[in-house]
Amino acid sequence: MDVYKFGGASVKDATGVANVVQIIKMVPNKDLVLVVSAMGKMTNAFEKLLKAYRADGGDWMKEFNSIKAFHEKVAAELKIPNTRLQEGIRQIFSELELALSKPPTDNYDYDYDRIVSFGEILSTKIVSEYLQAAGLENTWVDARTIIRTDNTYREARVEWAKTRELVKEKWSEVKAGFGSNRSMMITQGFIGHTAERNTTTLGREGSDFSAAILAYSLKAESVSIWKDVPGVLNADPKTYSDAVLLKRISYREAIELSYYGASVIHPKTIKPLQNEKIPLYVRSFSNFEQQGTIIETATFSDSLIPSFIFKNNQVLISFTPRDFSFIVEENLSELFGIFASYGVKINLMQNSALNFSVCVDSQRESLDAILGICQEKYEVLYNENCQLVTIRHYDQETISRLLIGKSVLVEQRSRSTARMVLVDGN
Ligand code: ASP
Ligand code: MG
Repeated sequence: MDVYKFGGASVKDATGVANVVQIIKMVPNKDLVLVVSAMGKMTNAFEKLLKAYRADGGDWMKEFNSIKAFHEKVAAELKIPNTRLQEGIRQIFSELELALSKPPTDNYDYDYDRIVSFGEILSTKIVSEYLQAAGLENTWVDARTIIRTDNTYREARVEWAKTRELVKEKWSEVKAGFGSNRSMMITQGFIGHTAERNTTTLGREGSDFSAAILAYSLKAESVSIWKDVPGVLNADPKTYSDAVLLKRISYREAIELSYYGASVIHPKTIKPLQNEKIPLYVRSFSNFEQQGTIIETATFSDSLIPSFIFKNNQVLISFTPRDFSFIVEENLSELFGIFASYGVKINLMQNSALNFSVCVDSQRESLDAILGICQEKYEVLYNENCQLVTIRHYDQETISRLLIGKSVLVEQRSRSTARMVLVDGN
């Protein structure tokens, strides 16, 4: 059995949904578990809806109607010769309306998961019905009955043993329904549930991770992530026209690349696959005959092609204790605690005797709050508009080329990786 994951870009409209059928038809006789994200930019649209719902006065109708119109339009364009899909969509929107008719709670993250998860419920319903109409028999499964998490809303942690049990149980139930025919199950990426049956989400772009959770639970033969790029490239093709495809990389290399911010795969995806030695294919949904990238146990040395990862809109913050004490374990754990409590992820850090610096994504509100807390004990320096560059398998020539017209604020090098915080100008 294989797991196929279709992200938002692959199902952004009716043409995208129809393309899924073409891809599945390439593998006529294999059991499949499909994991699907919300369509196109729908998760952002749901975030807007949530904001309107939680605002004073809570006038969410406009956002609600535009999300509804979007899905109804896609459903109509798919021209399915029965009305089951229209009926299904109508029902989901009446559930959403009911959810929105209750007053917001004082837990933003809880409300987020309760509302934003509808994006995946809708997309899977649409894909499932369309496949069905195209003769690809499948069973729609609510991920909130199989992915068990704790109650860290918006960044829920998976309870692996329970999840594996639930997933296996559901899959055998689904398979039994298909008898000797090819079994196919379709479920949502990104979402899960707590033991109390509350909806949770796994963090933005978490559908890749969902695919890995299912593959791990079922010991799948492989996972394929269908993307709008040909595979894992050594740089973002939007900024590097000569980016090259990495055809075969190790789990380790893929983890390093995604951890540093290569956005092609969600960083949590690889570890569960590595544990079960399940290969991960990253492939293009528009050129689906092409091989793409294979991520697997390295039986060869990693590709030594330099890879570049750029994170823009970074802020470099430096803390110096006002009382001239040194930066030691106590201040570090205090500072880490403050960052963690605001959910701000540290992309790079460095310390010296009197100074601790972190590079983080620019996020005004949280950073203002953090600075407010720290200012009494620390002198705080703040550099905006920085760029964090990571180069795997670097050489001096590529670094020098990158530094033209830039100043280096922080630089770190290990044998395989160079990382720099840069600003424009000399
Ligand atoms: N729909 C979710 C998001 O956009 C999850 C995903 O696409 O992986 O963040
Ligand atoms: Mg998405």
